[in-house]
Amino acid sequence: MKAVSSKPRVAVIGGGWAGCAAALTLAEAGVAVTLYEASRTLGGRARAVELEGKALDNGQHILLGAYEQTLGMIDRLQAGASHNGLWRLPLTIEQPPAFRLACPRLPAPLHLAAGLLGANGINWGEKLAAARWAHALIRGTAEPLDGSVSQLTRSQPDKLNRLLWHPLCVSALNTPPEQASAQVFRDVIRAAFGGRTQHSDLLLPRRDLTALFPAPAAARVSGLGGTLRLGCRVVTLDAEEDAVTVGTRDDAAQYSHAILAVAPQHLPALAAQVPALDAASRTVSGYAYQPIATAYVQYDDAFRLPRPLYALTDGPAQFVFDRGQSHAQTGLLAFVASAAAQLSSNWVDEAEAQLRRIVDPGPARWRRRIVEKQATYACVPDLPRPAVRTAHPRVFLAGDYTAGPYPATLESATSSGVQSAASLLETL
Ligand SMILES: Cc1cc2nc3c(=O)[nH]c(=O)nc-3n(C[C@H](O)[C@H](O)[C@H](O)COP(=O)(O)OP(=O)(O)OC[C@H]3O[C@@H](n4cnc5c(N)ncnc54)[C@H](O)[C@@H]3O)c2cc1C
Repeated sequence: MKAVSSKPRVAVIGGGWAGCAAALTLAEAGVAVTLYEASRTLGGRARAVELEGKALDNGQHILLGAYEQTLGMIDRLQAGASHNGLWRLPLTIEQPPAFRLACPRLPAPLHLAAGLLGANGINWGEKLAAARWAHALIRGTAEPLDGSVSQLTRSQPDKLNRLLWHPLCVSALNTPPEQASAQVFRDVIRAAFGGRTQHSDLLLPRRDLTALFPAPAAARVSGLGGTLRLGCRVVTLDAEEDAVTVGTRDDAAQYSHAILAVAPQHLPALAAQVPALDAASRTVSGYAYQPIATAYVQYDDAFRLPRPLYALTDGPAQFVFDRGQSHAQTGLLAFVASAAAQLSSNWVDEAEAQLRRIVDPGPARWRRRIVEKQATYACVPDLPRPAVRTAHPRVFLAGDYTAGPYPATLESATSSGVQSAASLLETL
């Protein structure tokens, strides 16, 4: 088959954060892009949903100051807006009256040491043990680490593991500590605490997740002459020596290249007709997945948490967020339960009981829950992650599961999208 044209025309399949980052990078490099997204809403696993007449998200998300790729792209797209859609908070993990850790604005990682030494709810022995252990983790050897987070943290006092390290692991890796990769956990701790002080900041979205990045990215792609095909699932993919053919239920089109930016669980079906993608498909077929559950609970409009978010322990939820403070949705709280494979049917009651140990919000007006059963792949030790380049020179991968230092996060998705587009551009 002959190449469709000497000018590159690229199909990006999947309009999550990875696909949008890839399409944006290509469009800004002057390449003709068509973005296919099966849903009518962009954003994939980080997207807007409407419930009870409110603009909510399929799951409450939080970003870290270390997400440089993601934050840079959001900033660039929303330049000129009064704020970039994110609320930056210096790291504070607070669960009154049991625990409070606040990192002051000192150079990293001194800020963590100062935070740990000044923490409430742990004794001096525990503070020193935590500060020494964290310092060794951040400044120690860069050698790969074997084993699980439970093994990595076994020298730490039980209370620290219960209040700090294990909840951090579950939130960051969406994997229980006994299964989670020690290596990836160390890389996340290093990224957050081993670089600049601001890298450990928590950033809360102030608008829905589609409006935060995927929609403005797609608008820019379209402004640069790209084509958006929303509500358009790709059902066939053929890759020959000189061209790639992308088929939907209604039509087929030829491109010079394709970037497959679907979630790993959807890759094998999409790639089934392309033998050069067998290795990547086999790799992801071995993945296990972990759910994340979000419960939105509406209380009286006048109710407000004393802080924008609280950490929760001893129950299904790890965090509760006040959407009144972040999104002007007064009285609305979002409870998040990560690695939520063992949730009971009344987990929202249990999560509310966790909050009542801190503050009484009064009776709920309504409660809605969203459980994303395959929210992320389980981030286990030695998980093989495919490269963005495949064995086919015209087909590239993008997504939070491709090779990189982060677990399944927005940062791994956008970085992978940019890297995939850059690898493709190098071949032109
Ligand atoms: C509830 C929840 C909470 C989370 N919390 C956080 C958090 O706080 N912080 C954080 O950093 N990360 C968090 N994550 C993880 C983060 O959302 C994901 O890592 C990231 O969104 C993955 O993006 P992606 O583009 O790689 O994949 P996806 O978002 O899965 O995008 C793939 C896209 O491809 C589309 N698609 C699939 N098949 C086809 C096809 N055949 N044709 C066309 N389109 C197709 C899908 O519809 C989808 O839009 C959370 C995830 C969930 C689910």
